[in-house]
Amino acid sequence: MREETTMHDHRKLGRELGLFDTDPLIGAGLPYWLPDGATVRHTLEEYIRTAERRAGYRHVYSPVLGKRELYEISGHWSHYSDDMFPPMDLGGEQVVLRPSLCPHHAVIYRSRAHSYRELPLRMAELGGMYRSELSGVLGGLTRVRAIQLNDAHIFCTLDQVADEARAALELIRRAYEALGIVPARYRLSLPGPGGKYVAAPEMWRRSTALLTDVLDHSGLPYEAAEGEAAFYGPKIDVQVVDSAGRESTLSTVQVDFHQPEQFDLHYIGADGAKHRPVMVHRSIIGSVERAVAHLIEQHGGAFPAWLAPTQLVILPISDAELPNAEGFARRCADLGLRAEIAGPERGSLGARIREARLVPYQVVIGAKEAADDHVAVRLRDGRRLDSRPAAEVLTRIGALVGTHRTDLWDADGRM
Ligand SMILES: [Zn+2]
Repeated sequence: MREETTMHDHRKLGRELGLFDTDPLIGAGLPYWLPDGATVRHTLEEYIRTAERRAGYRHVYSPVLGKRELYEISGHWSHYSDDMFPPMDLGGEQVVLRPSLCPHHAVIYRSRAHSYRELPLRMAELGGMYRSELSGVLGGLTRVRAIQLNDAHIFCTLDQVADEARAALELIRRAYEALGIVPARYRLSLPGPGGKYVAAPEMWRRSTALLTDVLDHSGLPYEAAEGEAAFYGPKIDVQVVDSAGRESTLSTVQVDFHQPEQFDLHYIGADGAKHRPVMVHRSIIGSVERAVAHLIEQHGGAFPAWLAPTQLVILPISDAELPNAEGFARRCADLGLRAEIAGPERGSLGARIREARLVPYQVVIGAKEAADDHVAVRLRDGRRLDSRPAAEVLTRIGALVGTHRTDLWDADGRM
């Protein structure tokens, strides 16, 4: 018998907590996000965009549709069509819902001339893509047909690939730290037998050597797995395990010599001649759907404070403290903190605290606190802090949330 897992099933918990749901009328594998889930998703997406901007990425938007020809050039049509939705006929042309963002980004790169001085050119997008998953495997947020992908493509020289792959692994490490995610293992995903892969032995040898070198120097333990590569190149995959013990890929770093060739990409080198760039595909959190599913399971709904839909619940002991609670809520909003008031009409203080057990900070205001502009804070983990000035509490919570910390209180924090 399998050991009882402490992880939660995100499908059940996600509905109970009002994060997302599905409706047969919209369709299987097409979940929608409720306000609290949308807050988590938006906050996660903003964290990613900010981290990418700081790491030198520029963001683009590209459409979720493209002509069939685009995917014939990229190789998706011949290597990946089983996972694609059937094409739509449109005025004598065929368009498809895109199965990946790579071809659009290759075309965006190609639309302007580039000098070697611009490389590495890092292009990022949180964009939609589609996969025609069979209805039997669909469930919750882990297997969906409409996917929001945290994607990026780095166009660079061969000499820059290893540094870019290393930097991408570091972005992944920092994001996992902020999100409280523990990877199950790192995997070097190699091609296997069969015709799924682009036939170019020398290309595979070079890109595999590059990624192996990056992993060997990273100090990270990893396992090689055949039959798990992308059709165009090998990958470093960061694997996580769900509540049912199933392993899936959350983050990935890939080296691609194939698509630059297919789309005839080039840059002008220091010698004035045209050269072919390499494409590094990387994703920090993979699909937003799968990342949030994993966060729900890992944390049981008790998200890190910076990600929590409600960060503070304000609990006036009686109606007399309601004005103070409202004032405190306004100060939270001014600092960008998400707070809500649970007044005495919602039951006893004990009942209101139990109701808010997943909220990181429970802020109690009684007559004494109201008189002094103090608050008494209880942390989600059961710790109680002495009554202290409201301004001090706001500053400290603001600092913890603003730096994406996973601890709820900095015991040694000095004001
Ligand atoms: Zn890609």
